[in-house]
Amino acid sequence: RRLERLRHEFVANVSHELKTPLAVIKAAVETLRDGAIDDPSHRDIFLEQIADQTDRLNNLILDLLSLARIESGGETMEVKRVVLADVVHECLDRHRSQADARHQTLEMIPPPEKSSQELWTDEEALAQILDNLVGNAIRYGHEGGFVKVRWYGLGDQIAIDVADNGPGIPPDDLPRIFERFYRVDKARSRELGGTGLGLSIVKNLVQIMKGTVKVHSVLGQGTTFTVALPRTPI
Ligand code: ADP
Repeated sequence: RRLERLRHEFVANVSHELKTPLAVIKAAVETLRDGAIDDPSHRDIFLEQIADQTDRLNNLILDLLSLARIESGGETMEVKRVVLADVVHECLDRHRSQADARHQTLEMIPPPEKSSQELWTDEEALAQILDNLVGNAIRYGHEGGFVKVRWYGLGDQIAIDVADNGPGIPPDDLPRIFERFYRVDKARSRELGGTGLGLSIVKNLVQIMKGTVKVHSVLGQGTTFTVALPRTPI
């Protein structure tokens, strides 16, 4: 019965998430048809709305497909030797323009020891985890703030920290942020293009990779997510 309830809640959530952008698109198209298309000063506003909401639907569907694939066990891990500096560097590069727009600095802090520079893992899954965490740190961090990705050896694991000096997450919300569609501030997440699925994708991927993910956050000071992965496949 619990599983049935969860499934029901999930379908209700997905329907709601799909309905909202569709309603905006529908209204914008109707307004354009009703004459706004001939009014250059208004036309662009409605076209912009349609473009934004289409992006939102697209991101949502990509995240849903990703989650469905991971949860069904269909995600096959292709384990190989991965050089962390390369994966982190590429991830930061993908986010550079987003961070620049918010005047944030992106920093990568490798460990001094040679033994923690690489690990055996699925590179694509690791990149997806980092993209979600770095994307969130930029999105929810302060304008002009920093995002730092640091890694270090932790016994037979390698731990990767993604830290920001943003507003932090209230302690009451912390235990729930890995749930599907859970957001601290719904309106803000949607406005910033969030789907509410990023952290549950991270949690599921980390589980398949036999690792752990933890979060430490202090209100007003910042948030650090720590992903620990085995150095070699278990
Ligand atoms: P979303 O698509 O809304 O970002 P996530 O699952 O990635 O969904 O994150 C869930 C919620 O956790 C976010 O809506 C946000 O409220 C909070 N959150 C995630 N990362 C951070 C962060 N670095 N700083 C502050 N809040 C965060």
